[in-house]
Amino acid sequence: MDQTAKSDPKVEQEREKHLRFEKVAETTTYLVVIGFFILTLLPFKLTFPRLILFILYGVLLTLAFVWFHFLPKKFVGPLKTFLYFLITIGFIYLGVHFTGGIRSFVIFVFYLSILRAAAYIELKSFIVLNVLISGLLLVEALFFSGTVPISEKLSLWSLQTWVLIAVAFFGRYVFDEEKRAEGAEESEKLKTVKQIDNVKNEFVYVISKKLKEPVGTLEGYLTTALSAAGNNLNVDLKSFLVKAEENTKRLSRLINDLSDISKIEQQTLSLDLTDVDINQVIGSTLSDFNISAAEKNIRLGYQRPLEIVIVRADYSRLHEILANLVDNAIKYSPNSSQIEVGFTHDQKNVMISVKDSGFGIPQESQVHLFEKFYRVEKNKGIKGTGLGLFVTRELVERQGGRIWFESKEGVGTTFHFTLPLVGVR
Ligand code: ADP
Repeated sequence: MDQTAKSDPKVEQEREKHLRFEKVAETTTYLVVIGFFILTLLPFKLTFPRLILFILYGVLLTLAFVWFHFLPKKFVGPLKTFLYFLITIGFIYLGVHFTGGIRSFVIFVFYLSILRAAAYIELKSFIVLNVLISGLLLVEALFFSGTVPISEKLSLWSLQTWVLIAVAFFGRYVFDEEKRAEGAEESEKLKTVKQIDNVKNEFVYVISKKLKEPVGTLEGYLTTALSAAGNNLNVDLKSFLVKAEENTKRLSRLINDLSDISKIEQQTLSLDLTDVDINQVIGSTLSDFNISAAEKNIRLGYQRPLEIVIVRADYSRLHEILANLVDNAIKYSPNSSQIEVGFTHDQKNVMISVKDSGFGIPQESQVHLFEKFYRVEKNKGIKGTGLGLFVTRELVERQGGRIWFESKEGVGTTFHFTLPLVGVR
């Protein structure tokens, strides 16, 4: 039963409100009683009635302490709050009555407002309210208090202001405390979300690792079968096998993307940086796409330069980057179009480009293109996951490069990325 009450956010909220109110009530009571306690001494003439008052406040203070500290704190509810409220008003009334300076009942309303305000409103408005109330109290003390001497009026006013400021600071303390509690709760939540995220990443990583091997084997067998028996197969069977190989390759890329994402998010993605001949990677990547390009009658061109250009990169990651870009170029281009791959270099970097004459990327989508799971709305009919470019950018940047693109709808897209140059032979 207790658990139901705890898990119900409304009940919890009520409970918190009462607890907060109790805190305010307790401190306000102390402040008021101590304030009046001091007030009895303020004109510095300890007459007999003042001595009695002084003792009375001492007793009240002790009572307040006992009341707040020895009542069962577990029990919270409107009744207890009401009692706290009542006792606080009682103290204030006694104070006001015995000091005799202020007869106006308005002061109770002020103090009530302060109590309420401290518990519920924002610090800024709370301070403004207090300044206004202080002003009113000053007028009250100076002009409407009858026979009280001016020095006493001023001391009374300064006391009231003091009490108000103290309550304001207390209000601030309560709110800060609350914010701290909220902050702690938030970071607790964040921790849980992070833990769930880690478990999810771990899960994705394990699954993709387990899938990688059988899918790789399947892809290998299909490629071998096609190249060994390709010409002896009837047309239908051959096209089935080509489709199977193509889809297996796609599946394999998806598994790679998933495994990379889990590694990126767990910060365990490792790179094996070596000197790589850029011509060789581009050549081998493009040969993987000969069939899918031919199916759409797309010309896959590569201006192979004579010089041998070496970059510092992870061979298989570089292959993955190129494969993602070429795959996209084919997917998002119409039949019978052209794709050009090429590269240039300066003293420091090699810039590799994949240029298509495809659908292009709408202006409003361009800022989101490298986001995880982002897909252009109008291309959603084409199979994809929205992971390729996210992974590609991570892979490029982790190898010390940069990636960007230029695109115009209906004209085409060119992706460029750089890698550190090692040398030219
Ligand atoms: P996927 O291709 O799996 O959807 P990507 O992250 O590789 O995911 O690409 C994100 C989106 O960017 C794609 O859905 C596509 O709309 C758009 N896009 C990527 N490359 C190109 C391109 N060469 N031409 C046109 N649009 C592209």
